[in-house]
Amino acid sequence: VHDLELIKVGKVYDNGTPAVAGFDLAVAKGEFIAFLGPSGCGKTTTLRMIAGFEAISSGDMLIKGTRINDVPPERRPTSMIFQNYALFPHMTVRRNVGYGLEVKGLAKAEREAKVDRILATLGLEDVADKRPDKLSGGQRQRIALARGLIVEPDILLLDEPLGALDANLRKAIQNELKLLQKRLGVTFVFVTHAQSEALALSDRIVVMNQGRVEQISPPHQLYTRP
Ligand code: ADP
Ligand code: ADP
Repeated sequence: VHDLELIKVGKVYDNGTPAVAGFDLAVAKGEFIAFLGPSGCGKTTTLRMIAGFEAISSGDMLIKGTRINDVPPERRPTSMIFQNYALFPHMTVRRNVGYGLEVKGLAKAEREAKVDRILATLGLEDVADKRPDKLSGGQRQRIALARGLIVEPDILLLDEPLGALDANLRKAIQNELKLLQKRLGVTFVFVTHAQSEALALSDRIVVMNQGRVEQISPPHQLYTRP
């Protein structure tokens, strides 16, 4: 059974804008998928439908074989990472990272153990008691990753997560994403308009144009006619 399946998924916004049509995709557990295409082609809309932030207009979406069309975001085994990090500025790194577990009502001791473990995984031990606005973009994206991963999602959704970083940091975080994929076995769905990122990171690239899937290929076949 696939980790994620999209079957003829479509989206028309309430104002009549068609954003996505006939999107078919099956993703294996632990796979790294990139959605690649120009601005406005429907990448973010598709990601938001997988997260449950945006309703599906047509088709079906399954996670591990279960239809999730009507499952609210907080009950989906997904976490989403944003370009602008979306961290709480008034909370320490530790509190930002543990927030999802706090909301779930996890006991303090168990929460702290999990927070310590994920901070170590992402090399954030030394900044645990700082606030995010004192830290670099790379550190902030590591914090956002820690916050997303701490709830042990099956699928990590990343919306242009490297877009705000300079070239060196982009390379560093790219490498860390690949290590996390190998180490944690999490499935990645990664949105980008940068071919270099899709080529460096993905097992398969979904090329999108005007709301449609044009091609699905492994990186080495991106420029080969399917
Ligand atoms: P991106 O290209 O990175 O998806 P955009 O600049 O297109 O970002 O969109 C930024 C935000 O505005 C998103 O939350 C998106 O859902 C919303 N948005 C984009 N286009 C429209 C539109 N035509 N009407 C209403 N909201 C829109
Ligand atoms: P991408 O992520 O590839 O830049 P989007 O998924 O953001 O593309 O947008 C796909 C299409 O849907 C675009 O035409 C965009 O303007 C439109 N769109 C995005 N968000 C909204 C929204 N909230 N309301 C109406 N139209 C939207």
